[in-house]
Amino acid sequence: MRKDLRVGSAVAASGEAVSGTLDLGTSFVPFTIFNGARDGAVLALVAGNHGYEYPPILALQMLRPRIHPRKLAGAVIMVHVANMPSFLGRTVYFSPLDQKNLNRVYPGKADGTPSEKIAHAITTEVIDQSDYLLDLHCGDGNESLRPYVYQTVTADAALNTRIAELVAHCGFDHMVIDRGRPRDPAASVYCSNTAITRGKPAVTVEAGFLGVPDEKSSKMIASGVENVMRYLKIASGSAKRVKRPVFLDPAPVVTSPGTGLLYPCVKRDQNVKKGAVLARITDFFGRKIADVKAPVSGKVLYIVATPPIVQGQPVGCVGVPRKSL
Ligand SMILES: [Zn+2]
Repeated sequence: MRKDLRVGSAVAASGEAVSGTLDLGTSFVPFTIFNGARDGAVLALVAGNHGYEYPPILALQMLRPRIHPRKLAGAVIMVHVANMPSFLGRTVYFSPLDQKNLNRVYPGKADGTPSEKIAHAITTEVIDQSDYLLDLHCGDGNESLRPYVYQTVTADAALNTRIAELVAHCGFDHMVIDRGRPRDPAASVYCSNTAITRGKPAVTVEAGFLGVPDEKSSKMIASGVENVMRYLKIASGSAKRVKRPVFLDPAPVVTSPGTGLLYPCVKRDQNVKKGAVLARITDFFGRKIADVKAPVSGKVLYIVATPPIVQGQPVGCVGVPRKSL
């Protein structure tokens, strides 16, 4: 038997699944608690920190009826759609309520803006009660992205090993190494880093692109989650470890020097040479503003592939494969 697990006003007894909603006034966050019959780890699954990223949201819809709490050791807490204002408002990157990027305001504030309130609720109600976290993303509505996970490297070698093992069981073979995440729990910025700065292994997962409700990407995320549940012994069965991981160092995100229209010149997952044109930017009269070029030779992790572009916003990211971590 496990003790009751409470999120907001919802309480799941041992062996029960209970769904509920965190009511934050300006928004609401739907969640499901799967409280296992036996003790074990608690895994948090967060979808929709970016509301235009559909495959992760649909992956949790696929998984919800497949998880049976009486068979679990430990628990799973699902956040079905973190950023409801962005989801229902169909906005890329930013909330329509406060123009903030939810995945840049963690751990949030109880008395903050709508996005800060969501981040605070997820931090205190979900992350604080969990041992592990998967933050599920894809290319946003404007981004054509190849699947990968972010592997965070911290100053703590033991935590790095635990993160690396979690990463190796997510079902993805491309690992983008992230060494630059903030180390202050009070300014963790990102959802997954909020768990990591609290000593809990976490991974940001990316599969899907361009606002497409792509079933293949959703299935890739769902099967990765199920493998992680087996790896953590929350679910029974043997977990698969990735066979040939490709580690990549991300070059700094390339941003646009001007506002206007963007024409992509490469595809996701394409190998490019340093200096290759990633995208052409024009003004509203068709005059070229700039060719945006690859800063390094490597693989296109994502490229913006819809026309609107604002000065300073991302155009794409190239990853440089490396021999090992
Ligand atoms: Zn995202």
